[in-house]
Amino acid sequence: MATQFEQIKAEEEALLCRSYSRYPLALVRGEGARVWDADGKEYIDLLAGIAVTALGHANEEIACVMEKQARTLLHVSNLFYQRAQLALAKQLLETAHFDKAFFCNSGAEANEAAIKLARRYMRKVKSREAFDIITLEGCFHGRTYGALAATGRANLQEGFQPFPEGFSQVPASNIGALEAAITSQTAAVLLEVVQGEGGIVPLPVTYVQQVEALCRTKGILFIVDEVQAGLCRTGKFWAFQHYGVQPDILTTAKALANGLPMGAMLTTDEVSQGFEAGSHATTFGGGELVAAVAARVIEIMRRDRLDERAAASGAYLKERLARLQEEVPNAIREVRGLGLMLGIELAVDAPAVWKELLARGVICNLSHNVTLRLLPPLTIEKTDLDRFVDILGDILKKTSVK
Ligand SMILES: *Cc1c(COP(=O)(O)O)cnc(C)c1O
Repeated sequence: MATQFEQIKAEEEALLCRSYSRYPLALVRGEGARVWDADGKEYIDLLAGIAVTALGHANEEIACVMEKQARTLLHVSNLFYQRAQLALAKQLLETAHFDKAFFCNSGAEANEAAIKLARRYMRKVKSREAFDIITLEGCFHGRTYGALAATGRANLQEGFQPFPEGFSQVPASNIGALEAAITSQTAAVLLEVVQGEGGIVPLPVTYVQQVEALCRTKGILFIVDEVQAGLCRTGKFWAFQHYGVQPDILTTAKALANGLPMGAMLTTDEVSQGFEAGSHATTFGGGELVAAVAARVIEIMRRDRLDERAAASGAYLKERLARLQEEVPNAIREVRGLGLMLGIELAVDAPAVWKELLARGVICNLSHNVTLRLLPPLTIEKTDLDRFVDILGDILKKTSVK
């Protein structure tokens, strides 16, 4: 008899466009850092969507806000003034040096807004014909045309040409290469201080500081994409706060509304002048429901000091992984990352390890077929982290002896 999973899989093949390569399980329920599949099996969720459900699955406070807001006002459009957006903006702007917010529906859209703002600021405020956006190799900024042009990965772009002009890329952590690439037409440098999809790669502190200094010297904008690394994930509210820099524009999304589609761009008073009424807009962005939920998410993150919790849990997990690495030095090449944004680069058959973890009830991501990528809920308990390390250790002790 076909399992629930097999039935769901067969139905999907008949009904949906084939654009995802999915994990072999259908999830139906979650609670905290645990999820259950259609056949009743329980998993520790070390992925949380993809760094999305930072407060855990089925969070009761979030469920309450959603229910209340759904019964009050779900959506009215950006033709009207809306209180929920203001409550959210206040919460967000208190976390850093930014003055102004723009809300949208996803990470890619937040980056589109940032790219458009940077270009229009240069033309309208600085009266400069500067539009080039420079990004770093290994980056990921999203799948829409502008964001994908910025991402610049051949395998993701294949078949979709032509792309918008005005994007170029340089190797990461090489300040000379960046300096050489900047011209009078450059509007901004856009980077992730911790590359996420790239396999959890934190950029060196000195490099990021040099990038900021170079942007200031050249009069161009410094943009950070914190769609994945932001919102307490790395152990500070924003990942750039580990680096002692002050970006002109920040984009964020994934964890912002704990699972509802939501993105934001934060910027300074100065740079916000690049937009006027009518410059940029979205139908759904910052609607009452998502804004009310996101405002509560940020309130909870600040109230419960989830930045500190992520730092402590991340340090604990890193320490346990370091001890495991000593036990199986031939299996683990490197453990890297900040807070609860960790990558375990393996020296053994990583896809096999990933598959065995799944079979034994642990969900994580496999990046570039070599790195286990961990992005658990920030509220995950120590016992779940311990269980993961025990299971991983057990698997590696078997695989490393080849
Ligand atoms: C996921 C991601 C995006 C794209 O976000 P979507 O919501 O999928 O459009 C952009 N930048 C980074 C760093 C991401 O991790």
